[in-house]
Amino acid sequence: MATTMKSLLQKLWFRVLLGLVLGIVFGFAIAPMTADGPLGMDGKTFLTTYIKPIGTVFINLIKMVIVPLIFFSLVNGIVSMTDANSFKRIGMKSVCAFLLTGAFAVCIGLGFGTIFQPGLGVDLSALSSLSGTAVAPVTAAKEVSVIEILVGIIPPNVIKAMADDHILQVVVFAIFVGITLNHLGHKVQNLIDLIKSAATLVFSLIETVIRFSPYGVFALTSWMVGTQGMPILKALVVLVFTVIGALLTQYLLFGLMIIVFGRMSPMPFYKKMFEPQLMAFSTSSSKATLSTAMRVVNERIGVSKSSTAFVLPLGASINMDGTAIYLGICALFFSQAYNIPLDSHHYFILILTATLGSIGAAGIPSGSLFMMGMVFTSVGLPLEGIALIAGVDRILDMMRTTVNITGDSLITVLVDKSEGTFDTELYHKVDA
Ligand code: ASP
Repeated sequence: MATTMKSLLQKLWFRVLLGLVLGIVFGFAIAPMTADGPLGMDGKTFLTTYIKPIGTVFINLIKMVIVPLIFFSLVNGIVSMTDANSFKRIGMKSVCAFLLTGAFAVCIGLGFGTIFQPGLGVDLSALSSLSGTAVAPVTAAKEVSVIEILVGIIPPNVIKAMADDHILQVVVFAIFVGITLNHLGHKVQNLIDLIKSAATLVFSLIETVIRFSPYGVFALTSWMVGTQGMPILKALVVLVFTVIGALLTQYLLFGLMIIVFGRMSPMPFYKKMFEPQLMAFSTSSSKATLSTAMRVVNERIGVSKSSTAFVLPLGASINMDGTAIYLGICALFFSQAYNIPLDSHHYFILILTATLGSIGAAGIPSGSLFMMGMVFTSVGLPLEGIALIAGVDRILDMMRTTVNITGDSLITVLVDKSEGTFDTELYHKVDA
């Protein structure tokens, strides 16, 4: 018993969950205390004065890595793509398919978030912003034309764009830098190597920041529960079920895509994908699942070696449909909870940033929490809620990673089939 507990405590997801549970208990226990009690102040003031700052540190750590993460991971992604110059056609096909399915997945997320309104019934708008750097909420959304949006995403001043957290402008700059580096090729090899190292650095920074999440989750959950009470917990449960419903829908749509675009039965795909799906479910990491998925897709599903080697790793790093769905729903959750109405222009930006977020998210556990910062910032939503979501993130991460790796494998199958290199006989062959 003691050893089981010890080994559980070594697992980060368990500590985060514990942070959530203890945060709920602590918040409910402290909130009713009065000024003449042992705290010397009322419970809510205590939570706001002494506990919330721990959460603020966590949120600021997340914010700290957002801009470098977006910049270096995007430039690195673009630069890595030309490594496979000879696969240009397959590359173009795959990237288009990944982008389309990603954007479509965000729309499913936004659809579910609009229909089920998980953030309704809570009012977080009264809560003061966590840190001085929080973005100003978009309370009175003004109509902006598509032309204005397009002009607005070109950064006249890159440093200012980074300092102001103008995410789309940073993205545009990163794309310019990436494409130009590719053009210059080995003339700037040192810089390309430097950018690759910087990308490795930001990914490991994320892992360091995530280690702090149990404390951040504890602090912000107890503060939110203490000041908001039961409605916030109810909203969280609705959010979890909304995400699960949307992920299941996407999962079924994958089957439909095999029927429509691959003109095959989806059953062998679903059956044979079980092994990588189990791996994705238990590790919550597309990266960790990649080698299993590659083996299964090639040896049991019938995808050619070259498509497996090129399309699947590309998908595992830039195609995350489950993550895209999650980012879309979470953005709507907070717009509802903070009472910040979003208009069509915000929806457009959400589709753009959540798709980019799913591209940029690292294929590691809780990779999307960092991209949430970028998505929320782009439409002016406050970030403190991220810690609340982080408490339930693991279970949703297991499911969205399963959807992520299934989506990558599906596109790999469809691209291979369109190239005429797919082994249909092997696909239909029942495994021994
Ligand atoms: N854990 C996910 C993955 O590896 C990324 C995410 O956090 O959404 O695919």
